[in-house]
Amino acid sequence: MISLKKNYDAIVVGAGPAGSTTGALLAEKGRDVLIVEKEKFPRYHVGESLMPFCYFPLERLGLIDTLMESANPRKYCVQFVRQDGFLSQPFYFFQHFDHPSSTTWQVWRSEFDKMILDKARSNGATVMEETKAKNLIKSGDRVEGITVESEEFGSLELRAPIVVDASGRDCFAAHKQKWKIRDPELKKIALWTYYKGAKRDPGLDEGATTVAYLPNKGWFWYIPLSGDMVSVGIVAERDYLFNGSTKDHEEIFQREVLNNEWIKEHLAEAEQTGEYRITGEYSYRNRYCASEGLVLAGDALGFLDPVFSSGVFLALKSGVMLADEIDLALDAGDLSAKSFDRYGKRMQSSIETMRKIVYAFYDQDFSFGDLAKRGDHLRAALTDCLIGNVDDNEFRELFDAMSDLADLPEPVEHGLTTASS
Ligand SMILES: Cc1cc2nc3c(=O)[nH]c(=O)nc-3n(C[C@H](O)[C@H](O)[C@H](O)COP(=O)(O)OP(=O)(O)OC[C@H]3O[C@@H](n4cnc5c(N)ncnc54)[C@H](O)[C@@H]3O)c2cc1C
Repeated sequence: MISLKKNYDAIVVGAGPAGSTTGALLAEKGRDVLIVEKEKFPRYHVGESLMPFCYFPLERLGLIDTLMESANPRKYCVQFVRQDGFLSQPFYFFQHFDHPSSTTWQVWRSEFDKMILDKARSNGATVMEETKAKNLIKSGDRVEGITVESEEFGSLELRAPIVVDASGRDCFAAHKQKWKIRDPELKKIALWTYYKGAKRDPGLDEGATTVAYLPNKGWFWYIPLSGDMVSVGIVAERDYLFNGSTKDHEEIFQREVLNNEWIKEHLAEAEQTGEYRITGEYSYRNRYCASEGLVLAGDALGFLDPVFSSGVFLALKSGVMLADEIDLALDAGDLSAKSFDRYGKRMQSSIETMRKIVYAFYDQDFSFGDLAKRGDHLRAALTDCLIGNVDDNEFRELFDAMSDLADLPEPVEHGLTTASS
């Protein structure tokens, strides 16, 4: 049984990659951290494909050796497949950046997220599972803690000078503050399931993420996992998926399998397992990333789209940055919104970079092949974005060239702190 204190240095809501990373690294610095998680781990989560630059947060967490020894398939590349089954030449990350980070992993999120939470625990963080954050405790505009409902302890008030909301798409704090703002254009839905015994490509491509196109810029993801399993999902417009005679998820999914030759062939001998899962309304950025005594991380700050697998990377990255910023702010005795200005600006810049690439991907007139033909330097800049090498770079030349080929979005101005907005 864990013993609880009345006050902590930091309270983290949610034990996904963002929350557990923040908690693990703050605890490593000797801070008194409480992580509150509504589920019992290991728990299911979508989002199995990692981006190469996840390597650096995972290295900071001391988890690279564990991943190296794991049975997780190695991901060396992303490959793109046309509807007729034509596979474009895969581009291997190591051709661009000769560094261990260029090999990444396809992970079961139940195991991956538990691995980071266990690290937080072993670093000294207190973890309450099956405990749901219910409300923010406020004094005027300042957040001073949270109320929780716990399986073990019942209703409690917990206090800290900073609350980190890492509750994922639940956006615990943003909902309370009415901060959630949907992306003006990205309005896709995702429908997915799992297969056993599906075909794997040979050699280095065995663990590749495959993006296989459907009509109207819809697409399949195909993510090989350990245990001879593959995660297979569709991302498309609601009107496209539900325009036929059926609303049945299995029938829609199986109808679309026939719309891509490569997917059809790879699943031909495989056995579908478990349920068909569906989600939508996932593209948003919250009005602020921090206010007095409160800061948001990972999906609780914003989420773009499943394409390019940027979600876990941005969650890990925000967790690392926040642990460092909170540690400095605790030393300075100043947990005001302005302490997180630098954090907000860096996260906004990374998210905006990825957002432009996502918009281009869905533009009917755009193709990455056309962009690459305009010069190797553009291909290299694009690859930097796709591996997550997005810090301190505005990619001006890349986006100038891309805007000739696609409608790129105006930057979303919100998402900074209440102090800097
Ligand atoms: C269809 C789809 C496919 C995706 N595919 C990929 C992919 O291939 N690769 C990739 O990198 N990303 C992918 N993502 C995105 C990825 O899943 C997320 O970006 C990532 O999980 C964010 O991590 P997080 O820590 O911010 O939140 P989460 O991982 O969602 O963790 C939040 C945690 O908070 C807990 N919680 C919520 N509310 C409360 C509360 N009130 N009290 C206590 N605990 C609470 C939840 O139980 C959860 O454990 C995908 C997303 C979608 C929608």
